[in-house]
Amino acid sequence: MLVSSKKMLQDALQGQYAVGQFNINNLEWTKAILQTAQENSSPVILGVSEGAGKYMGGYRSVVGMVKGMIEDMSIIVPVSIHLDHGSYEGALKAMDSGFTSVMFDGSHYTIEENIQKTKEIIAAAKERGISVEAEVGAIGGEEDGVTGSGEIADPKECKMIADLGIDMLAAGIGNIHGKYPENWAGLNFEVLGQIKDLTGEMPLVLHGGTGIPTEMVKQAIGLGVSKINVNTECQIAFTEATRKYFDAGKDLQGKGYDPRKVLAPGFEAIKQTVKEKMMIFGSIDKA
Ligand SMILES: [Zn+2]
Repeated sequence: MLVSSKKMLQDALQGQYAVGQFNINNLEWTKAILQTAQENSSPVILGVSEGAGKYMGGYRSVVGMVKGMIEDMSIIVPVSIHLDHGSYEGALKAMDSGFTSVMFDGSHYTIEENIQKTKEIIAAAKERGISVEAEVGAIGGEEDGVTGSGEIADPKECKMIADLGIDMLAAGIGNIHGKYPENWAGLNFEVLGQIKDLTGEMPLVLHGGTGIPTEMVKQAIGLGVSKINVNTECQIAFTEATRKYFDAGKDLQGKGYDPRKVLAPGFEAIKQTVKEKMMIFGSIDKA
């Protein structure tokens, strides 16, 4: 069932669990994630970055594929199609193309400009029942290389953005995109607690969900994190399983060259990764 992310995250906040956002890259990814969500009665958010959207042909191709699968595969758990780290123009375009949820990432603007643009995105989204995620302060990533602490958001700025009427808020608490460095300082629960105190009932989003120790993830959920983004982990699992297929020479046996056979181990690896995450996040049987 295609819905916005609003209600599933409010339910998650109430029930003290988190809904996973799993980023998609193609048909196999989408099918694996939807099937896993349905098999485990879990709500799910399909994340689409602007780059991945372009890769799949464009936003309308993504929406058409997801809608078709929901119908063909009888997916009745709540599913949203969410633009990940959208630009201002990208968010407007995704909404016009049928996305049910968008992130407008204005974290690289000044707080004033971030507020202004976020307001405009909210106005465009609200009339169509589309949920909006905004972000305060940059979350660390590969580009910052040397630092082990990641970016930390200012709780007061979080409150300013939360008050605009968004549905979910991404705020840096030491999380990092991609693989975590050896010297990573861990999540900053003190800042998370301050953000939670100021933003109240706002579902919080944890980006960079790959490689955060399970105990830290659970503690973050207890402090108000209701959405966790997972991307890199599915990519690593898919590629590892695919490499094993070739390393074992299976492509050279029988009809092992059939792309449906070639992609099958990676498909299963994504399913397994998604299920493990759903178990940790506590979203199983919550649909
Ligand atoms: Zn992110």
